Amino acid sequence: MKPAAFEYVVVDNVTRAVAALSEAHGEAKILAGGQSLVPMLNFRLVKPAILVDINRIPDLAFIEETDHEIRVGALTRHHQLEISPVIARHLPVLSAAMTHVAHLAIRNRGTIGGSLSHADPAAELPMMALLLDAKLHIVSHRGKRAAAASDFFRDALTVDLAEDEMVTEIHVPKLPPGTGWGFEEVARRADDFALAAVAATVTASGGKISEARITLTGVGRTPVRAKEAETLLLGEKLETKLAGRVIAAVRAAITPETDLHASSDYRRHLAGVLTGRAVSTALKRVAGDVE
Ligand SMILES: Cc1cc2nc3c(=O)[nH]c(=O)nc-3n(C[C@H](O)[C@H](O)[C@H](O)COP(=O)(O)OP(=O)(O)OC[C@H]3O[C@@H](n4cnc5c(N)ncnc54)[C@H](O)[C@@H]3O)c2cc1C
Repeated sequence: MKPAAFEYVVVDNVTRAVAALSEAHGEAKILAGGQSLVPMLNFRLVKPAILVDINRIPDLAFIEETDHEIRVGALTRHHQLEISPVIARHLPVLSAAMTHVAHLAIRNRGTIGGSLSHADPAAELPMMALLLDAKLHIVSHRGKRAAAASDFFRDALTVDLAEDEMVTEIHVPKLPPGTGWGFEEVARRADDFALAAVAATVTASGGKISEARITLTGVGRTPVRAKEAETLLLGEKLETKLAGRVIAAVRAAITPETDLHASSDYRRHLAGVLTGRAVSTALKRVAGDVE
């Protein structure tokens, strides 16, 4: 199918972008990488009167390091995250996750701002934003605000973003020293959306676990943080058998849906298995047994 007719506006700065959104009174959509929006336009699942193309805003694609965090411009492409030495050094779990996002052709176009704003229930970037405690910086003609990833994802394809708002930057705290990580995903074919994926980080101090984070995608309408499972690890010694302890807690924390690709029961089973592997790898990395 072809999209319904729309007006096409190209902007070269954020002020013009949010002015165009504001003037459209809810009838406009931002066009970033177009990898989710264009299919939705073609199927006429969305029929915006105006597309605001932000691809020519020059200072919206960057990866910068400060003392404590990594700042990423909303227009940064998935592949730039995947190959960035800064991300590899400070957020290696994110580099690993990016290799699972679609095919390279899509990763060359798709953007972090687009993926987070679109919030597909099986996408990797929303779960990574939750895992890494990211903050989204949001601009509209009314001003600026920041939203924690933990508050941003409301439902499938639904986020805390008004029609006149635009995500401009994502700030992510660097992982602390002594942190190990694991990322596990199963998809029907390489580079398909996940049937289930799990990311875990484990931070140790004095030989004991001081912080643990576990997030999942593909197992609910939004990304899930498995807080009860995390609590089971706190204060424990670094032993890989601990990974088994969190599996039941993760399975209890999720309510996967049955769809064309997999049943709810299968996804729950898979989530447990992948959690065991991701946590076990994270524990081995903290202990220095895995690179
Ligand atoms: C065949 C195929 C396979 C895919 N597989 C995967 C996969 O395995 N994992 C995965 O995570 N994704 C996958 N994707 C989706 C891909 O990652 C998209 O790039 C991503 O979901 C959207 O990013 P985008 O930049 O293309 O956004 P667009 O398609 O341009 O926009 C998506 C939505 O976000 C809004 N938007 C965009 N940028 C902003 C912004 N800065 N502020 C506010 N709103 C904004 C748009 O208005 C639109 O509503 C796949 C896509 C395809 C076509």
